Amino acid sequence: MPAVFPQKITILGATGSIGASTLDVISRHPERYSVFALTACRAADRLAELCLRFSPRYAVMADGDAAKELRNLLQGCATTVLEGGQALCEVARAPEADMVMAAIVGAAGLRPTLAAVTAGKKVLLANKEALVMSGQLFMDAVEASGCCLCPIDSEHNAVFQSLPRDFQRRPEADGIRRILLTASGGPFRDTSFEKLETVTPGEACAHPIWSMGRKISVDSATMMNKGLEVIEAHWLFGVAPDRIEVAIHPQGIIHSMVDYVDGSVLAQLGNPDMRIPIANALAWPDRIESGAGALDLFNIAALSFDRPDFKRFPCLSLAYQALGAGGSMPAALNAANEEAVAAFLDGRLGFCRIADVIAATLEHNGWMGAETLEAVLETDACARSFAREEIRKRGKA
Ligand code: NAD
Ligand code: MG
Repeated sequence: MPAVFPQKITILGATGSIGASTLDVISRHPERYSVFALTACRAADRLAELCLRFSPRYAVMADGDAAKELRNLLQGCATTVLEGGQALCEVARAPEADMVMAAIVGAAGLRPTLAAVTAGKKVLLANKEALVMSGQLFMDAVEASGCCLCPIDSEHNAVFQSLPRDFQRRPEADGIRRILLTASGGPFRDTSFEKLETVTPGEACAHPIWSMGRKISVDSATMMNKGLEVIEAHWLFGVAPDRIEVAIHPQGIIHSMVDYVDGSVLAQLGNPDMRIPIANALAWPDRIESGAGALDLFNIAALSFDRPDFKRFPCLSLAYQALGAGGSMPAALNAANEEAVAAFLDGRLGFCRIADVIAATLEHNGWMGAETLEAVLETDACARSFAREEIRKRGKA
């Protein structure tokens, strides 16, 4: 069915880095997109500014006190302020919304993202943690509702663009040999083992190419981000883990590739600007201006590739292990990582201890099924409480 314009969008995580890029692209196409709902966790003042600019029907604050503050700030405005996790799900599944940008960071995004999927919305998926936690359950819900799922992660969006348009998650049938996920290598690509022991949150968040939220910035520094992306690619594209390879590509120009059995490798190139995958997903299968500059090939001196160093970046191995083990393991990996990264950002845990906490949590978790949302959430809760204990034992006084 052809889309009717303007399309109404709910942006989950509107005050974040992806939220800002999404609103930037949308504001360039007022005839195509209008904002139905915006959500945030605690930043009432920032959400108020966005509401005044975009006049959504609803604004949701996950936090109750922040919702009170937002109501005060928006007195006399047409936007209705809601609060709490249930309201996040309601604006994700509301009949008026045509599409949902899932850009909450971490496990907090799982329920509202699944609500959008189940309601059959067009879902723009940035919140990779939701898919990592609930893999099979999530993809079963996509299949059951027939929703259109468009990846926002630049690598997965690049793969999406390099696949046949009618791709049905059957890689062999389409002659796909491998997926090559590129990685910048993060701020510590060339940092020695010894030096990694003493790196600070400020250094970890200073990404050489991308400007992102703090959690994903630390994930990029440990390379857990690439690990989560391997798991994400497995679920999105139905490709076996041993057919997903990671290539370090410091220039960040090739965003990922698909290797076909005839020897052809298709890639998507572009400047490192998240507005490109966002515009692609918003308009798919059309193309619209994103605001990103044209790629200047003559200014790129070289494109280089390297194998990842699994010893210095054990989080990448842990993610492959969790994916290989299956069941609840990816959910436990994600939960332990979220706790360890939060502790590192607070100065309670050393950078190299992040991987230790995750490894211990995976060992403790044991294998369990992840067929239901309750089972996934139970794993998430148990892994977090174990990881917190490990952080206390291994952390800084
Ligand atoms: P961010 O920290 O900048 O923003 C996170 C958003 O989520 C904010 O709006 C915040 O209010 C909201 N949020 C946080 N905790 C919440 C909670 N408990 N309940 C409800 N809302 C909550 O993060 P980001 O960098 O924009 O990343 C968002 C997601 O997109 C992540 O899953 C990340 O991995 C993914 N992603 C980001 C980028 C990027 O360039 N930033 C690239 C690829 C994928
Ligand atoms: Mg990415």
